[in-house]
Amino acid sequence: MHATKDRTPRVTPLDETTTRWSDWRWQLRHRCRNLRQLERFLELSPPERQALEQTREILPVAITPYYLSLMHPGDPQDPLRRTLVPVMGEFATLPGDSPDPLDEARDTVVPGVIRRHPDRVVLLATGVCATYCRYCTRSRLVGGGEKLTGHWDQAIAYIADHPEIRDVLISGGDPLLLSTSRLDGLLTRLRAIPHVELLRIGSRIPLVLPMRITRKLVDMLRKHHPLAVSLHAIHPRELTPLAQTALARLADAGIMLAGQTVLLAGINDSLPVLADLMRGLLRNRVRPYYLYQCDPIPGSGHFRVPVEQGLRLMAGLQGHMSGYAVPRFVIDAPGGGGKIPLASETVVGRDARGWLLKNHLGEIFCYPEAFVE
Ligand SMILES: *Cc1c(COP(=O)(O)O)cnc(C)c1O
Ligand code: SF4
Repeated sequence: MHATKDRTPRVTPLDETTTRWSDWRWQLRHRCRNLRQLERFLELSPPERQALEQTREILPVAITPYYLSLMHPGDPQDPLRRTLVPVMGEFATLPGDSPDPLDEARDTVVPGVIRRHPDRVVLLATGVCATYCRYCTRSRLVGGGEKLTGHWDQAIAYIADHPEIRDVLISGGDPLLLSTSRLDGLLTRLRAIPHVELLRIGSRIPLVLPMRITRKLVDMLRKHHPLAVSLHAIHPRELTPLAQTALARLADAGIMLAGQTVLLAGINDSLPVLADLMRGLLRNRVRPYYLYQCDPIPGSGHFRVPVEQGLRLMAGLQGHMSGYAVPRFVIDAPGGGGKIPLASETVVGRDARGWLLKNHLGEIFCYPEAFVE
């Protein structure tokens, strides 16, 4: 292949036509994990090179060949590349940063179970992901091997002992990286608890390793309804034909799909990109659920977007596109306050005639509040 100034990303790392390419275990084994492996496929910028040379105590680097093939090899500002290839900003700590900003340690009731609300818990089922997002809120926990899997018995016993718990969010790490039979075992045990109504799985796999969404996996998942998958999606370019097939399989199996997006500087902090992503998700039967303000973990400073910009972007989505495509903008409150929705003021007053409300164009309307006594 000769050098070219072509700006569109091409599949460069490996031959996509091999059948091994569509084998998810092959993809995992062939992830790029260091400078030497990455420089074969990407023209690394000095800050990337320097960051990859630093020893890292938390959050390893890992990029599947598939996701690497979506990145622009010559452009260090490529949004997909920015999420997974470290730069020096990762080693900076800003005032207010904390390795556990949501105080999840305080709300951990037994190892691997975070409970902040009476009716729902987060179950950290694994510490492994296919790729490691550089802004990860759980960077203190993920990437260190299988250390989160040892205590399922205790976690399941806790949930079984608390009849108020109706909703279990299986997270981690990425639960869809567990083998199909182990995940089946976990879901079966949770389903056997009579008071558990909804099971949710938080995953980035359909977008970074879509070949993992095999028919066998989906046939297993559909036995455990009602089941939802919260899809971590950050950019419309992630919705490739392969990813769309994976999402269609999940949706066809009756799995509810919800989108979760972290607002990230230079990646998705513009209205066209964000609107494209939300519409793209909806076209793939994923209902946008949350847009998160980036959590203040050390090293995420260069990813954060001013809250005001987030509110402006939300105003651009609201009222200009299908309500089904509009997520809720939330801050997961530092200190463990839970997710707090942010919205520009819509209730502007109340007078003798009724409630004064402002729409997305800034026009004021009155809702006359009158009741039959
Ligand atoms: C996000 C989260 C939940 C789920 O919140 P929903 O608003 O129901 O999606 C539950 N527990 C914890 C600790 C969470 O962080
Ligand atoms: S997939 Fe989720 S848990 Fe894994 S690195 Fe990314 S944000 Fe963190």
